[in-house]
Amino acid sequence: MTDDNLSGHLVLLMAPSGSGKSALLKNAKTELPELHFAISCTTRAMRPGEKEGEVYHFLDMDKFNSRIKTGDFLEWAEYGGNLYGTLKSEITEPMRTGQVVIREVELQGIQSIVKLIPKAKRTIIYIDAGDWESLKQRILSRAPISEEQLALRHERYLKETAAKPLADIVIKNEDGQFDVAKDEFVAKLRSIIANVSKKASNDT
Ligand code: 5GP
Repeated sequence: MTDDNLSGHLVLLMAPSGSGKSALLKNAKTELPELHFAISCTTRAMRPGEKEGEVYHFLDMDKFNSRIKTGDFLEWAEYGGNLYGTLKSEITEPMRTGQVVIREVELQGIQSIVKLIPKAKRTIIYIDAGDWESLKQRILSRAPISEEQLALRHERYLKETAAKPLADIVIKNEDGQFDVAKDEFVAKLRSIIANVSKKASNDT
């Protein structure tokens, strides 16, 4: 993949589970209709309130595997016993037409994508939701979760916080700070969109 092919920009959102990233994304979607919110594929079960094709395409394992074989994914990874994959049609294709694309991915996804998309064409935003104890309280208050699942989340949390230095931008979203975090998130995205448009008009 070369710089010339990608006139747009990719924003990767990295955040430990329970850090409020879905609410931040939902708010950004209403504030910034010009952003392309990339849809990924997953084998996990649909949760209440989710719709097919909104954030994910929900695929069974056979279908997911056949899309791996046909080379549809920019990257894919296993997380919590399920598979997740970003689609080239949702990331690189819109980037080729100059769009600013945003997608949340877990750590392995970030590690794969940074090798595929040049640094000048991507921004990694990390959502910092504070220490494990406060995050654990949020996870527990959200939905029932087994001890085993919670231990897995903790393991992931430790890995994901260790990856914070990879981020270009860190947004704090500790308890009670959502209003500040959501405005900061939108402001950062607006400034990325403005830079991409400025570059496009300078290049023409
Ligand atoms: P959830 O099941 O809670 O929606 O997501 C679980 C994890 O999968 C989150 O850390 C989320 O960022 C990550 N994820 C969502 N979509 C993708 C994707 O397309 N690729 C990768 N690698 N991770 C993803």
